[in-house]
Amino acid sequence: MTRVVQKFGGSSVADADSIKRVAKRVLATKQSGKDVCVVISAMGDTTDELMDLALQVSPIPKPRELDMLLTTGERQSAALLAMALADLGVEARSYTGSQAGVITTGKHGDARIIDITPGRVTTALDEGSIVIVAGFQGVAQDTKDITTLGRGASDTTAVALAAAVGADYCEIYTDVDGIFTADPRIVSAASQVPEISYEEMMEMAASGAKVLHLRCVEYARRENVQVHVRSSFSDRPGTWVKDLKDIATTDKDGNPMEQAIISGVAHDRGEAKITIVGVPDKVGEAARIFDAIAASGINIDMIVQNQSRVSTSRTDISFTLPKTEGRNAMQKLNEIQPEVGFEELLFDDQIGKVSIVGVGMKSHPGVTARFFRALADAEVNLDMISTSEIRISVVVDAEAVDRAVRAAHTAFGLDAEGEAVVYAGTGR
Ligand code: ASP
Ligand code: MG
Repeated sequence: MTRVVQKFGGSSVADADSIKRVAKRVLATKQSGKDVCVVISAMGDTTDELMDLALQVSPIPKPRELDMLLTTGERQSAALLAMALADLGVEARSYTGSQAGVITTGKHGDARIIDITPGRVTTALDEGSIVIVAGFQGVAQDTKDITTLGRGASDTTAVALAAAVGADYCEIYTDVDGIFTADPRIVSAASQVPEISYEEMMEMAASGAKVLHLRCVEYARRENVQVHVRSSFSDRPGTWVKDLKDIATTDKDGNPMEQAIISGVAHDRGEAKITIVGVPDKVGEAARIFDAIAASGINIDMIVQNQSRVSTSRTDISFTLPKTEGRNAMQKLNEIQPEVGFEELLFDDQIGKVSIVGVGMKSHPGVTARFFRALADAEVNLDMISTSEIRISVVVDAEAVDRAVRAAHTAFGLDAEGEAVVYAGTGR
């Protein structure tokens, strides 16, 4: 029998009526003859509200207790969906992440899934029940404490469960129609892509596209789980995320399709830049700086080191990191200033990152030139640059992000004819 995992994001279960609507959708899948395992997010903004509440009670809530609190959001929606399904006359059982066998590391707020022992889930599925699992949570292997997997991580729960229960594919229901060539709120001529490779989707997610959680795509690729991103508000076809070799290269009549060089343009306004001015140009200084940053668990993104000034033998190092880590990083760097002996620290959160992503750039020369020319014509000044095999990213002024995204989208021929449907979805 076909087995499917369906994940519904917070915006799809924002209130009682939406939960009943989702229940009908789940039931329809079950009635089409499939085993259904549902992974659910907390209703609407519940997670944010719980977080605010915690901060009202305690300025720095204990991570263990914060996880106990935040996981209740998903528990609510799971139980409510099970009730709604029961009223439709079908057997449904809800489980917490821990009951569903989601075993994680012990890092509260950002735990990783180590293993899934889905015995209770598979038994219930085999008995014909619809299974509902609270997303975004698990239980720590060593302490047995309840953990959360990071914001937006119900996607990851869904893909991990799909792999563990041997599902044929994993559907991620959200409030947008699928993956777009750019954010349609910025580019009105953006269009939806029918299929995208894991590699491209990983780069898009890492570059700020919010539709799918990065770790979810990494997991899907590792376990080869096909992911279908679609809207819970429509029956449109959505976007399939799959292995590059499974992506169609011919149209339905068997004619080869022209492959785009660039699959999409992503942007990210969530990063800040720190510049360490006047670092003594000696072996080991950079290592010392980044050791300190790494020790506090901060993930950095781009790094640029200037050529050192001959007169002083000192250099500047800039790097980007999530805005939310800015204060933490500045504090750590201030602590090591006497030891490293740099001159000054600068912090800039008025930046944005714009990235073009596509496997096509591996085989096409001149992609960088075309990108930079388009940015120059749009009067966008480049601050930092980084590349991977299938991505080119630039850091620009926050004010120039929209302009840069539109320019790149046009330059690579991605503009669709006619306006994309304008929608207000957030991709949750
Ligand atoms: N409810 C959690 C969050 O808001 C997890 C999720 O929605 O995926 O981050
Ligand atoms: Mg989400």
